[in-house]
Amino acid sequence: MCNSNLKETNEMELLFDASSENEGFSRVAVAAFMTGLNPTLEEVSDVKTAVSEAVTNAIIHGYGFVKQEEEVKNKIRLHCSTQGKNIRISVEDKGVGIEDVHKAMEPLFTTKPELERSGMGFAFMEAFMDEVQVYSVVGEGTRVVMEKTLGKDCE
Ligand code: ATP
Ligand code: MG
Repeated sequence: MCNSNLKETNEMELLFDASSENEGFSRVAVAAFMTGLNPTLEEVSDVKTAVSEAVTNAIIHGYGFVKQEEEVKNKIRLHCSTQGKNIRISVEDKGVGIEDVHKAMEPLFTTKPELERSGMGFAFMEAFMDEVQVYSVVGEGTRVVMEKTLGKDCE
């Protein structure tokens, strides 16, 4: 659907444990939240992939160093807001942080090759979303903010 009222806004926030079972949950939650924008299947798929990559990064890189018994304390905050056909998603962890964000965002760069990571997470986020910004402080955590405007086919 191509009609949209650009003044309409909506917002939601989730706080969940940084465990792999919640990666699927967060992806589906965002997909459900964005149905109000009447997205195409491809747009839903793009956003789900981007959310999945950001949440997986928070779990395995942000909190990956923490021992299993402490894992329950680790949380991920997911904030979503929409304005008209624009969706903005923020994924935040309080993990180890990223030393060099520019380098981390280069395709194929990974600090966990032993876990068979391919270093393509940020590249996917950038490919599937219009805008990706990463704010990170070593020892404090990381926030990934992604934006996408839906309904481009209608222009
Ligand atoms: P893939 O996503 O393909 O499985 P990857 O996770 O290593 O591999 P990216 O998602 O592009 O690749 O991330 C690149 C690097 O950035 C990671 O290897 C990690 O060092 C760092 N990084 C990404 N997200 C975080 C985070 N939330 N906290 C700490 N470091 C991160
Ligand atoms: Mg990744």
